[in-house]
Amino acid sequence: MKTYGMSYAEADLTEQRAAALTARTTNHTDYCRCGSSCCSHEIANKEWQSAIWRLVEHVRSVSKAEINYNLCVALTQKHFGKKTSIREIAINCGIDRATAGKYNLMVINILKTIE
Ligand SMILES: [Zn+2]
Repeated sequence: MKTYGMSYAEADLTEQRAAALTARTTNHTDYCRCGSSCCSHEIANKEWQSAIWRLVEHVRSVSKAEINYNLCVALTQKHFGKKTSIREIAINCGIDRATAGKYNLMVINILKTIE
């Protein structure tokens, strides 16, 4: 999404803003029509997921402290409305809750600059 006359930094920011808007406004999941009796009838929405990946890439590239990829994905998804908790994320990523909370603030602060 590069527009003539924009610097790379500006074009990059435009792209990130678009990804943030998608992450904010798109359904996280689609209705699954596979018909299987054991199916939860929910599949991940590809558009939402790829917006999240785009934002995770951005967060990790500008973050001063290194942040684990899976942790960053989980915190970014939480920021954009996925139902989870810092406690649950901490357990899944094998870190303590306080550390997860610290990273959460870091991720939110970065995402705030593009939203
Ligand atoms: Zn299904």
